[in-house]
Amino acid sequence: MKLRTKSVHTGVNIDKTFNSVITPIYPTSTFYFDEIGKNKGYDYTRSGNPTRAALEANIAALEGGVNSSATSTGMSAITACLFFLKPGDHIITGDDIYGGTYRLFNAVLKPMGYKFSFINMRDLKKVKAEVTKNTKMFWIETPSNPLLNIVDLEAVIDIAKKAKALTVVDNTFLSPYFQKPFEFGADMIVHSTTKYLNGHSDVVGGVIVYANKEVQERGRYLVNALGVSQSPYDSWLVLRGVKTLAPRMDAHQANAIKIAHFLESHKNVKKVYYPGLTSHPQGDLIKKQMKGFGAMLAFELNTSKVSLNKFFKKVKYFALAESLGGVESLTESPWFMSHASMGPEGLKASGITEETVRVSVGIEDADDLIDDLNQALKGS
Ligand code: PLP
Repeated sequence: MKLRTKSVHTGVNIDKTFNSVITPIYPTSTFYFDEIGKNKGYDYTRSGNPTRAALEANIAALEGGVNSSATSTGMSAITACLFFLKPGDHIITGDDIYGGTYRLFNAVLKPMGYKFSFINMRDLKKVKAEVTKNTKMFWIETPSNPLLNIVDLEAVIDIAKKAKALTVVDNTFLSPYFQKPFEFGADMIVHSTTKYLNGHSDVVGGVIVYANKEVQERGRYLVNALGVSQSPYDSWLVLRGVKTLAPRMDAHQANAIKIAHFLESHKNVKKVYYPGLTSHPQGDLIKKQMKGFGAMLAFELNTSKVSLNKFFKKVKYFALAESLGGVESLTESPWFMSHASMGPEGLKASGITEETVRVSVGIEDADDLIDDLNQALKGS
């Protein structure tokens, strides 16, 4: 079965009571037993719920995993993954990961004794040099948020396997439609399903997808023990959203390519970061491991011509908002908003500047979006 068909059908056909075509929502906290030890596969919604199970089967099929755990947010999925480890263990990750992930690692887990190397993961020599006998996990975000740097999945996962460390890939930016980290040997994939998988900016959620039974067993145990599983209502919303993943991603990307070219040609834009531009320095790697470019882009605004606030005030179709991956276009400042928790030093190290603008390109008409950007980019 192809991805488009899986996203519509996998897991959804579970109602044997009334043959409902759409997966019902089971808004129950608990399930009765027919007798001790005999129930219909569910006992308590934190540990399992049929609506959530449908979503978990669906996303696992899209990524090519054995199963998944749908969680309350993307951050709770990430937190659960880190509970595979213990204080003293060492994690190698990028210096340009999502700000919330950086905050969890640096400000919450580091003081508890977890060790982190935040490095430029494009530099494979550096990645190898960071490995110690305590290295237990490689945390990979590719393309990175917000500068769209690409990490070589095959090469880094190879280094991780030699070190006998787990690899987790945050695949939020591309979704399984454009990137399949299990094809390169990752152990787990996480998503903020808040973003493209749900796609409509009306729910927060996350998922951990498991490549094999071993990580599945531990992961599902942890999600239940930590109590971070997703509610039946939110699971149902994400399942509804995921059915249109493929056509949405095609529409998002078609717009993003046009907008990236427009921005690149604009005199008040200093630089554009987008994997679909020939100016992206990692073209060969992009061809090797990505099936598309996605619809996230960033650019450096010439703020001596147009101030950040003026740009954000003038755009009509790009809401000034954090988050990404919904059908509507959004824009924001990583320095002042999504990545502010990295602090000025962390931001500078990762290459983010006060002039960096991040754009999540929606599925509106590309001409309208370009006209809107054009009027907002006019200098005074
Ligand atoms: N991973 C990435 C790449 C993100 O962009 C985000 C949120 O923006 C998260 C994880 C966290 O997800 P959530 O906001 O659903 O907790």
